[in-house]
Amino acid sequence: GDKVAYFYETGGSRKVRYVTPIRTQPECVRCHDMRPGEVAGAVSVVVPLERYERALATRRNNFAGAIVVGLLALCTVIFFGINRLVVRPLRLIRDGAVALGEGDLDYVLPDFSRKDEVGTLAVSFNEMAGRIRELHKEASRQALTDALTGLSNRRAFDARIRDEVERARRYGVTLSVIMADIDSFKAYNDVHGHPHGDALLRGLAPLLEGAIRTSDFVARYGGEEFAFVLPGTGTEGAAVLAERTRRAINEFPFVLGSTQPGGRVTMSFGVASYPDGVEDPGELVNRADEALYRAKREGKDRVCRS
Ligand code: GH3
Ligand code: MG
Ligand code: MG
Repeated sequence: GDKVAYFYETGGSRKVRYVTPIRTQPECVRCHDMRPGEVAGAVSVVVPLERYERALATRRNNFAGAIVVGLLALCTVIFFGINRLVVRPLRLIRDGAVALGEGDLDYVLPDFSRKDEVGTLAVSFNEMAGRIRELHKEASRQALTDALTGLSNRRAFDARIRDEVERARRYGVTLSVIMADIDSFKAYNDVHGHPHGDALLRGLAPLLEGAIRTSDFVARYGGEEFAFVLPGTGTEGAAVLAERTRRAINEFPFVLGSTQPGGRVTMSFGVASYPDGVEDPGELVNRADEALYRAKREGKDRVCRS
């Protein structure tokens, strides 16, 4: 006697059936032999569900498709975002670290203009590379500098003479070397002590440097011995420079110089030139050294040529 709705299946097709009773109304009684409220019949509505289910499935598929497309788009955005914001800068920083490790100290990262971790990492990397560059420059400078006098050292001299002989050979030009040695320096040390000997070496350095042109080169060869390299200068010119330097030292008022033989600090000089029958740097230095020892033998405080 009540309305009812239910799903059922026939012939493989799902349907919904709605049944509602038809009750006798008071006005029905006039013509029909029935009591009001009595069930006179029923309305039965059957609706096949296939169409609705198809529509529902299509809508469900469309929805799932939209979610997949949306997720793909999101993944793409995240991928490119991470690539641009993280991977690419990290790759540059990695390349920089590799370059630095391989000794390319000039590698500089671009300014990412970012205040986040990647930005500060790049700034710190550049600061670190800059510091390494400075330290490397300073270490290289120190490796080629004599600590006492500030002049170039023996290592720098060896490199320079090798380069200059090579250049003179290639361009067919001349080149001279002067070896110079303080006279009776042992006596100076013995009288005044080593610290004053050191002070004399330091005081000599500016005199020697002041004697040369910018294209020339002077180094502390060792002990109280100094060596000049004069590219493009022949024996004549080198001897003139040596003589001028000898006189400058002679005339310089070294405070404790009066205890030295002759009452002043003096130096002896030996000059040799390339080519003048010389083949290599070692031979050139030997020739200058021989000339220097002749200057010593002949009485010191003088210039001798090879
Ligand atoms: P000569 O005129 O023949 O060159 O005689 P010399 O006394 O100068 O030469 P010698 O080779 O007999 O002695 C060189 C001296 O130079 C001895 C050594 O103690 C001194 N000397 C070498 N290097 C230094 C240095 O760095 N500081 C000081 N204070 N003395 C040094
Ligand atoms: Mg000496
Ligand atoms: Mg000596």
